[in-house]
This record gives sequence, structure tokens and C-alpha cells, in this order.
Amino acid sequence: MSLENILKTALSSIADAKNLSEIEAVRVGHFGKKGVITALMPELGKLSPEEKKVRGAEINAVRQEIISALEAKKTALEDALLQEKLESERVDVTQPGRGQMTGAAHPITITLNRIKSLFGSLGFEAIEGPEIESAFYNFEALNIPAHHPARAMFDTFYFNEDMLLRTHTSNTQIHVMQAQKPPIQMIGYGRVYRSDSDQTHSPMFHQVEGLVINKTATFSDLKGLLTEFMQKFFEEDLKLRFRPSFFPFTEPSAEVDIECVMCHGEGCRVCKQTGWLEVLGCGMVHPNVLKAVNIDPNEYQGFAFGMGVERLAMLRYRVNDLRLFYENDLRFLNQFK
Ligand SMILES: [Zn+2]
Repeated sequence: MSLENILKTALSSIADAKNLSEIEAVRVGHFGKKGVITALMPELGKLSPEEKKVRGAEINAVRQEIISALEAKKTALEDALLQEKLESERVDVTQPGRGQMTGAAHPITITLNRIKSLFGSLGFEAIEGPEIESAFYNFEALNIPAHHPARAMFDTFYFNEDMLLRTHTSNTQIHVMQAQKPPIQMIGYGRVYRSDSDQTHSPMFHQVEGLVINKTATFSDLKGLLTEFMQKFFEEDLKLRFRPSFFPFTEPSAEVDIECVMCHGEGCRVCKQTGWLEVLGCGMVHPNVLKAVNIDPNEYQGFAFGMGVERLAMLRYRVNDLRLFYENDLRFLNQFK
């Protein structure tokens, strides 16, 4: 093939090349070990110096032309590739942002805050208290000595013989009574733990405990306070019913029912046809509890009450399964925004 034809064929294959590997094929076809241009070299050796000079220059000119054409085409293909990539990865900065979801408080937190704020408006200080507690604060000071059968009422998580996860928020009232002289008016609130788990029980749940200690507090003050609280909490003129009960730390003790918020006493599935819902326990503080914190029961008296936050939240928001509060399903939680 004449040099002229070699050049012509090379330039047309370069012009037709559609991608970098086709360009590479053309390069190898000319300058590789078995390339068309490479094949011309051995014949140069057979020529006279003058002929060699002329022929060498001719080959070199063709070689240079093919190389420049290859380079130019390669640059063009690479540019096209880059443009294509830029186009496909283009970010439209003028598009509006995706936005962020607004968070919301958990229904248990909302309920706790509501309870704290209602008691706060009546002059009660709210204290969270420790969740890891000694047996003294969780039991002994509350008139539940070691080996007392009442300890079986609580399915306690123990760390060792003395340390445990509090089974109720009553421990906080002991801390407060040790730290401060009466009159006392406080609520203790927060997480409590019992090794118990099924449809209606969770090993961790929330309580609010109230304590009033002064020289005159009576059971009728307790009744008035709880009635006002329940009516404000449910925003309804609900009736309350006090039933005699037993707790080691109060005497006398009562369990408190409210008129069923679903059926208003008619009887329904929620109140098991009784028309009443049990919501809290209460009573006059037992003299032994006052003695345990060096408050003279002959000078001071008072009352205490405790309630489950989940129970109140379920009734207020008409939630029928306790587990919904702990599964953190956004479809459930978003309803409380
Ligand atoms: Zn009912």
C-alpha cells in the first residue's frame, strides 16, 4: 500500500471511530508491533543513505499526521464523554429543597407534661428522682421491711441485695422528706421498672406520685385535690369513687375509680360494664414512713397518691394497646403532633 493510501485509510478510520477503544485499535493497527507503519521500517535499512533520508522523511510526515489526527479525535471523544457525564449528573440548584419533617413530643411525654403543669398550677414542685435506688428508699423507708410479704407485690429488678431499679416513684418522696422540712407539696415522676411484660404490662412504665405533708392535711383535702385534678385532666365533670384498699405506706388507703370516660357510667367494654375505671391509689401517709425520715407523726400528717401515666394517656387519647407507646411506629406517633 502506498504511503498516500495508508494515510487516507488511517484518516478515514479515525474519522469513523465512535469511541476510545476504536481509536486505540487504529493506533495499534499503525504503530503496534504488527502495525502498518511499523512494517515499513525494515525496508529503510536496505536503502542508500540518500534514499533513506527522503523515504524516512516521507514516512515520518505520514506518521506525524496520523498521530495528530489520533490525538485530536481522542480529545474530542473524551470531551464528549465528560459532557455526557456532567449532563447526567447535573444538579438543578434552582429546585426547591426536600424539606424536613417536624418532630413532636411522644404521647407519654405530652401526658406527663400535662400532669406536671396541672399540679404545678396548684403549687406542686415536680421532681424526677433516681431510677437506680437502694432498698431503703424503695422499700424500707416506705414501711416495707425486708422479708415483708408486701415486697411480693413488686416484681423487682435487683442489681444486688441492696441496689435495684425503682419499682415506683415513691422513692422520690423519701428523698424530698429527708432533704426538706414540712410543709411539703411535691410530685415525683418518671420511669419505673417491674419484671412483668404482657399486653397490659410493660417492664418499664411511667408513674406520677404526689405527696403533701403539713400540720392539717386531711383525707377530704386529698379527695378534693384528686377530683379537681381528674376533672381538669380529662376536661370533663367526672365523678370519682374511693374504695378502701391496702398499701404498706398509707393508712387508711384507697383505690380511686373515675366515671368511665368512654360510656359515662352506662357500661362498656373498656370499663368491663362497670361504668368505672380504676386510675390511682392513695391514702394518708403511714406514721412509720414519717418516722423513717425523722418527721414527727404527732406534729405532721399528710397524704400521698400515685398513678400510671400510660393508663391516663390511653384513656385520654383512646388508645387500646399499651404496646403502641413503645413501638415508635411513626404512623401512630404522627397523630400526636
Ligand atoms: Zn365504660
